[in-house]
Amino acid sequence: MIIAEQKPLSEIEEMLADCHKVMVAGCGTCVTVCFAGGEKEVGLLASALRMARELKGQPLETLERTLHRQCEWEFVDPVKAELEGIDAILSLGCGVGVQALSERLPGVRVLPALNTKFMGLPLEQGVWSERCAGCGDCVLDLTGGICPIARCSKSLLNGPCGGSASGKCEISPDVDCGWQLIYDRLESLGRLDLMEEPIPPKDWSYARDGGPRRIVREDLRLGQ
Ligand code: SF4
Ligand code: SF4
Repeated sequence: MIIAEQKPLSEIEEMLADCHKVMVAGCGTCVTVCFAGGEKEVGLLASALRMARELKGQPLETLERTLHRQCEWEFVDPVKAELEGIDAILSLGCGVGVQALSERLPGVRVLPALNTKFMGLPLEQGVWSERCAGCGDCVLDLTGGICPIARCSKSLLNGPCGGSASGKCEISPDVDCGWQLIYDRLESLGRLDLMEEPIPPKDWSYARDGGPRRIVREDLRLGQ
């Protein structure tokens, strides 16, 4: 899922400095699961903002809404009817949610309350870890199911580098060396032979380096 975390309250307050009434909009999917932008966080943030503004003698009116998903028009469209008198929408969705609201609701400012961090998973309560960098051409079949792009600090396709020591990455003793993880996994699978097969250079045009990406599935398009 997409992992995000809330921006500092002072930064959000600054964004809303000229607003008198805002819609605080959560999203019911990834950011709810990672406790950054669900219904509960919407309530807490709206309340904190109202209190902060009350203390400054500049009251802020908030309308709280949590969309099922901010990244699909069918859940965004109903918001149109509620924008009367709203100065801005403060989105607690990921960066995709913020942009979806902006694209679909062009007459209103949409501001981000979260910093979108990465695609990852929860390791334990309160700990999330990156797992995929969306490179567009997955090589997990060659690396024992452990991503060299997201989990090696240098995104090496043929690691480890000379900085790997005692299973840790040279950037920090707290960071596992991705290539040590790959080696251990391949060893446990009896597939260390894959370590001896160089992975060919990647075509990075499938990743962000190729510009904004788009998938078109003709079989799913209406009228096909
Ligand atoms: S190889 Fe690419 S698509 Fe596969 S997990 Fe890593 S970043 Fe994601
Ligand atoms: S120590 Fe391991 S994870 Fe760190 S950059 Fe080198 S190969 Fe990648």
